[in-house]
Amino acid sequence: MRVYHLAFVLGLLVSSALLGQGTSSSSGIDLKSIDPAVNPCQNFYLYACGGWMKANPIPPQYSRWGRFNELAERNQEVLREILDDSARHLDRSLIDQKIGTFYSSCMNESGVDKAGYTPIKSALERIQAIPEKAELAFELARLHNQGVDAFFRFNSTPDSDNARMTIANVDQSGLGLPDRSYYLEAKDGETREKYLAHISSMFQLIGIPQPDADARAKTVLAIETSLAKASLDRTARRNPHLLHNKMTALQLSALAPSFSFKRYFEGTNAPVFDSLNVAVPDFFKNFSALIDSSSLDDLKNYLTWHYLNNYAAELSKPFVDADFDFYQRFLNGAKELLPRWKRCVQLTDRSLGDAVGQKYVEKAFPGQSKERTRQLVSIIEKEMAADIDSLTWMSAATKEQALAKLKGVTNKIGYPEKWKDYSTVSVIDNNLIVDVRNAREFEIQRSLNKIGKAVDRAEFNMTPPTVNAYYNPLQNNINFPAGILQPPFYSVNADMAVNFGGIGAVIGHELTHGFDDQGRQFDADGNLRDWWTAKDNDEFKKRADCIANEYSGFSPVEGVNLNGRLTLGENGADNAGIRLAFMALISGIEDGSIHKEKLDGFTPQQRFFLGYAQIWCQNQRPEAVKNLVRTDPHSPGEFRVDGVVQNMPEFSSAFSCSEGQPMVSANACRVW
Ligand SMILES: [Zn+2]
Repeated sequence: MRVYHLAFVLGLLVSSALLGQGTSSSSGIDLKSIDPAVNPCQNFYLYACGGWMKANPIPPQYSRWGRFNELAERNQEVLREILDDSARHLDRSLIDQKIGTFYSSCMNESGVDKAGYTPIKSALERIQAIPEKAELAFELARLHNQGVDAFFRFNSTPDSDNARMTIANVDQSGLGLPDRSYYLEAKDGETREKYLAHISSMFQLIGIPQPDADARAKTVLAIETSLAKASLDRTARRNPHLLHNKMTALQLSALAPSFSFKRYFEGTNAPVFDSLNVAVPDFFKNFSALIDSSSLDDLKNYLTWHYLNNYAAELSKPFVDADFDFYQRFLNGAKELLPRWKRCVQLTDRSLGDAVGQKYVEKAFPGQSKERTRQLVSIIEKEMAADIDSLTWMSAATKEQALAKLKGVTNKIGYPEKWKDYSTVSVIDNNLIVDVRNAREFEIQRSLNKIGKAVDRAEFNMTPPTVNAYYNPLQNNINFPAGILQPPFYSVNADMAVNFGGIGAVIGHELTHGFDDQGRQFDADGNLRDWWTAKDNDEFKKRADCIANEYSGFSPVEGVNLNGRLTLGENGADNAGIRLAFMALISGIEDGSIHKEKLDGFTPQQRFFLGYAQIWCQNQRPEAVKNLVRTDPHSPGEFRVDGVVQNMPEFSSAFSCSEGQPMVSANACRVW
């Protein structure tokens, strides 16, 4: 999420057991997904998901395929109906006009193909016409306004010293490969060769002859390599203190004398400000040196590449194919492009999300879902308070602060209270690039306009149809878009043991993010403030280290291990989230709201763990795994299941596992 300078908005890809759909079970467990040949105490993930994995090979358009995708597919079908309908009734309302026209522009493939790269020609010419380095700042501002990712990022963010107010923020950016390490590690030579070839092929598509295009690609790679060296790695970026560096605009200018930030900020039309956060000061020092040492022509090549790269997917077929070949096929193992309608549905959702979202909510989000989710959240919150209270390693002083923070969590469910108004976004028929650019400019300007103003905590940072959820540490709130809050994701009619294993664990997961290794550094109001005693801090770290070491030992494909530090927040949230949901299960059994008896041959505890595990059934291509291990703070599904159950004596007792079996850890980790 680009609105935060801290990259810990918590992507959580979730779906749940297929409650009531495609299954004949009475509990909601997907019985066909189980592989009865596997012993649950040997590998619980393969036991719960083995049948599903065999029956659900990855479709050629995808690099991984899981329960989450199944749900997202259904949401996309709903959106397709909405957009087709709007396209047929443009006169009905302003929303229909915007989203219907946008979607039609995108679906007009022959028009897009015929236009080639004409729609961006003048923008590319403008880059080539930059007369001197002194003009670079103003032009870069224009490019950033259009959503082109080059050199660095400028946005607005809550001030972590005073999280009710918004400040300006600049941060490292501007790489075309998925992670800085791809530029620096010897093992990635082949990736860099392919990347060079890809950049060159894009240059050739705009008429630059091959030898020249090859040479220009090399200069692009050299510039990006300098930026990569100056960038903080993802694991370091998980420390919010490292990214917290407030200074005056003048100090930033002194740090980066070869680039006129004054001209740049003027060009962005951002409100005037005196001070800002500079997430990675060293990056800007190096950026300035890079501007100084590079030729103007090389800098133009770099900007040209990033313009092409940012708009490639909306250009004609040769650009779309080249973009797919490198980013999806080579880096992630996908075999085919998504059908155009899916790409257009996603693009419309990304561009005009609140307009599409309003229609989606009307159509697919039943009123009672909101209230029901609210009840479930409050059950899990109650369990978390009990859990904090019961911890033996935490002092009363820190517990008091933790409970105050828990009490301060606000819950946002379904969709925003106030929809964004797109009336100023001009959407023109059959002009896809201009439509996309207008939507991006609107969103970027909207974000910058917040600088110096109070934070609007009611805003949602995911669109309503999104199958995901997040915790925002700077606002201390958890957010559940409508996309994940509907049948069959969880069902009012299903067995609550399975529901708690699914949506219950998800709620617990998001709640725990307020208390994971990052979130715990913020207080109840979202300020970056240490509320831990020194001893409790040490105790937390010791326990978190246990989880980091555990997951670093997992290997999803031969020769590759998970990065336990990069994934620590997510793994911690998984471990605690399921524990809170399990506490809710036990309370439910005790108060009689959950069937004590076996259903489908499983005890409530077994149904709970199966419900949890079956969220994560997935198949992944090895290319995608290798990429994700370096870039994704979430562990692959297999370890989100096995990594968690190994730490839970409640699991081994539910399935009568014995010491020494793989799902019973001799060194069980527990933080919360
Ligand atoms: Zn998460």
